[in-house]
Amino acid sequence: MNQLYRGRFAPSPTGPLHAGSLVAAVGSYLDARSQHGEWLLRMEDVDTPRNVSGAADDILRTLEAFGFCWDGPVLWQSTRSEAYAEALAQLRSAGLAYGCACSRKEIADSASRPAIDGGLAYPGTCRVGLPAGRQARAWRLRVDGELGFVDRLQGHLSQQLENDVGDFVLLRADGLFAYQLAVTVDDEFQGISDIVRGADLLASTPRQIWLQRCLGYRQPRYAHLPVVSNAAGEKLSKQTLAPALDAGRPVPQLVAALRFLGQAVPPGLEHARLDECWAWAIAHWQFSAIPSGRVIPGASPA
Ligand code: GLU
Repeated sequence: MNQLYRGRFAPSPTGPLHAGSLVAAVGSYLDARSQHGEWLLRMEDVDTPRNVSGAADDILRTLEAFGFCWDGPVLWQSTRSEAYAEALAQLRSAGLAYGCACSRKEIADSASRPAIDGGLAYPGTCRVGLPAGRQARAWRLRVDGELGFVDRLQGHLSQQLENDVGDFVLLRADGLFAYQLAVTVDDEFQGISDIVRGADLLASTPRQIWLQRCLGYRQPRYAHLPVVSNAAGEKLSKQTLAPALDAGRPVPQLVAALRFLGQAVPPGLEHARLDECWAWAIAHWQFSAIPSGRVIPGASPA
């Protein structure tokens, strides 16, 4: 085992895995295994209202049917509230996190800047303290300045955090910890050295790096893979009704994911056994062959 490389796959149990999830799983798995690294699995079930009953089990069964072998037990975010609360307490005592009383409507009425990933950049209303007579509904992290990083596939990227995102939520008004906090705390806790995931998460990365810096964590390496889209150019997702993977015939779907990732798949591999397919993929994995295109319309491996 290469102790220096530890990757992960972190699905949210909001529905079954689809061809886009498979590309992310295959990319992170092969990057880890081809370097004799570890590959961990984390179930991102922190956003409980979005969890779909039975989806987590279905995801685990599908990953098994596709021949993925993860190291150690699955980490469930729903068991991690204490760790997230500790991180929030650390940020509060450092004066980096503050209580925010604003409702969605108040933000919409006062925010003038669109945020980089949709929505509105928080205008900073409660930065200087809660308005008189108001209670904190959520907790936000103060952001400042420009944050740049180098992605192994996408190259150099930077965001002006205050303009592009605004002070972002750590603890939501409904009492749940936000995705950005949970992911950052867990990647550090699990000792992840390499994050390989879909480019749909690229805009979140500067926020996660900012949090790592605020919490004194190490910064992992990042590689954001091209996103699989359907014939209409939409990212495959539950919202765009992406078909679930078929756990009964993994090899052709695996081969399609490898082709999507630019791998020079030999003819006939779709007729190979599952273990043969993985043996070929691990032995021949070429990171440099992955297309960096953030969105490749129509190039669905489904
Ligand atoms: N849970 C996230 C998702 O399913 C992935 C988070 C990550 O890879 O950092 O989109």
